[in-house]
Amino acid sequence: MSHKTPKHFETVAITAGQEFDPTTGSIIPPVYMTSTFVQDGIGGLRGGYEYTRGGNPTRTSLETLLASLEGGKHGLSFASGLAAEDALLRSVLVPGDHVILGNDVYGGTHRLINRIFGRWGVTNETVEMTDLNAVQKALAATPTKILWLETPSNPMMKISDIAELAELGHAAGALVVVDNTFASPYLQQPLSFGADVVVHSTTKYLGGHSDVLGGALVLNDDEVHDAVRFQQFAGGAVSAPMDAWLTVRGIKTLPVRMDRHSANAQAIAEHLVGHAALDAVYYPGLTTHPGHELARRQMKHFGGMLSLSFKGGAKAARKFAESMELFQLAESLGGVESLVNYPAEMTHASVRGTKLEVPDNIIRLSVGIENVTDLIADLDAALPRR
Ligand SMILES: *Cc1c(COP(=O)(O)O)cnc(C)c1O
Repeated sequence: MSHKTPKHFETVAITAGQEFDPTTGSIIPPVYMTSTFVQDGIGGLRGGYEYTRGGNPTRTSLETLLASLEGGKHGLSFASGLAAEDALLRSVLVPGDHVILGNDVYGGTHRLINRIFGRWGVTNETVEMTDLNAVQKALAATPTKILWLETPSNPMMKISDIAELAELGHAAGALVVVDNTFASPYLQQPLSFGADVVVHSTTKYLGGHSDVLGGALVLNDDEVHDAVRFQQFAGGAVSAPMDAWLTVRGIKTLPVRMDRHSANAQAIAEHLVGHAALDAVYYPGLTTHPGHELARRQMKHFGGMLSLSFKGGAKAARKFAESMELFQLAESLGGVESLVNYPAEMTHASVRGTKLEVPDNIIRLSVGIENVTDLIADLDAALPRR
């Protein structure tokens, strides 16, 4: 029974941390909806669990699964993506430390580092991560504790080179963190390119059904892990058992969903490129995208996110966003249903007036797994006539 051949991603997504319940044979491990655990005498813990903030079997099953998917040693799950980021930052930074961020990281990441950690004496600067010289210069200019990047980036879909950036970051003594939310571990595994920590908003593709918030960290280093594990327990922003269970349930179909998200987005990008109403279609699966070759090396497929730039400016972009039927106007991404977002006033409102501001003629699409012909018809009907 002990065939130890390494399993493929699709198999891991269904099996890692998912042993059936030994008492009843229930194929799905139960949701441990409990805050505390009875002890057999003082300190006599059954299975090591004491109180759910410190650990819960349903959360453990998700954390085991997350670590396996990213090919990492340790997985930690949190109440949201930002809670995961916050726990990591608190574990690593002290007042006076400096963080270098990509200039189009998730707006909430910038807000957290700039406005919350800024008050505790942490400084930051934003750099164009596709420009390795600029990154090297910034690292040389200021001792840096964390180099934080996101690829593909949001919403401009820029691709940055994880392996090169990890090398530059390490040469400067920085911890290299990659927010892998847009790609998901099925399409891209940053630890394999040398990154130190992977961050996820599991709210997006990992959960995949727009019904639960969550966040995760995956890493290999034992010392950083111990610090973050302590922060998770002491700060308390853990994922609740039902949230962890829903996320596990979503992850089982991650590979089939990502294949379809990617195929649909590719077809839509190819259909829209050159449309008379648009200046540009930003999608790394287009051979004309400046990061296309790099994305081919770094990713399995190109993902389900794309952005459009409207010739008619903010007015045309807003009208488009408000006139679709299948693509619903909402923040967030990565669910089975297609969404349209106007970054300037929705997801990226918090970075208005900063260097991270998004042009007001940009529309971001999260392409779902519906029938692609229906999606294209919806887009065509909403676009200004050619
Ligand atoms: C949504 C998102 C986050 C934040 O995650 P929450 O679950 O909303 O807290 C972080 N990074 C990226 C890229 C995201 O899309």
